[in-house]
Amino acid sequence: MQANTNVKINDYASPVKPTWCAGCGDFAIWTAIKMALVELNIPPTEVVLCFDIGCNSNMADKINAYVFKGLHGRVIPVAAGIKLANQGLPVIAVGGDGGTFDEGMQHFVHAFRSNYDITLILHNNCDFGLTTGQATPTTPTGQKMNSSPFGVAEDRLNPTQLALTLNPSFVAKGFTGDLKQLVGLLKAAIEHKGFSYLEVLQHCPTYNQFMDQAWYKDRVYKVEENDTYDNTNLKLAYERAGDQLEKIATGILYQNKEKLNFYQRINHIKDQPDLVSNVEKKDISELLLEFK
Ligand code: SF4
Ligand code: MG
Repeated sequence: MQANTNVKINDYASPVKPTWCAGCGDFAIWTAIKMALVELNIPPTEVVLCFDIGCNSNMADKINAYVFKGLHGRVIPVAAGIKLANQGLPVIAVGGDGGTFDEGMQHFVHAFRSNYDITLILHNNCDFGLTTGQATPTTPTGQKMNSSPFGVAEDRLNPTQLALTLNPSFVAKGFTGDLKQLVGLLKAAIEHKGFSYLEVLQHCPTYNQFMDQAWYKDRVYKVEENDTYDNTNLKLAYERAGDQLEKIATGILYQNKEKLNFYQRINHIKDQPDLVSNVEKKDISELLLEFK
């Protein structure tokens, strides 16, 4: 990646206007991603953003950069593959609580095992927004939703605690009501050399009025404001992440800078040039004749 000191927020401006509902937390995450990339001096031509399906992933054409939009819940393997081919690029995967923790769960688990050098920004609004307000694994137990009019019967997943049981190298939590903190967390996540998981507590005013912006504001606190918090202490991070309802910890909850990432562990390629450098121009016109 080449140093570029002239990156501006307008470099990331897309002519496509957002269609999110008024007050949606997606606006804050969208803004924070652009601000973090600008503050890191990364131009749009030197980053890849990967999306799947959902309100969050409708961001794909609202950012002027290289983007890939794939299947619901499958954003992690796409991002990991892009990084494998071109390790000089920062690669950011953007997913939601529905896709990632339903059909995408195996990818989530294996991303920590593999420690792919990518960032996952997880929009957690505790519902499926795009499909009109169904429950996801992070919807609180007992909550009435469009898919569960008598209340969610299952236990609520705690994705942060789950992440902390998977020998992670970076686990953080932000909140769409605190843009400054969110930008800082994004920068740290992008700069981390390994799988960086950033969960963002996000308000969905249309389908989640039980945890609105004021609800979160009354409950979130920053671990970095307590001098005694040690974000290399996995057990402490797990304890703090346990509370999702009363006192909700935000900030870099855990970081291990020593864990080797996936690409450093593959001995037969680690000293080789990136796969992207092997790409050659080929004339396929004869091959195409077969399909005439
Ligand atoms: Fe945002 Fe919810 Fe509207 Fe989707 S449905 S755009 S998540 S407020
Ligand atoms: Mg969601």
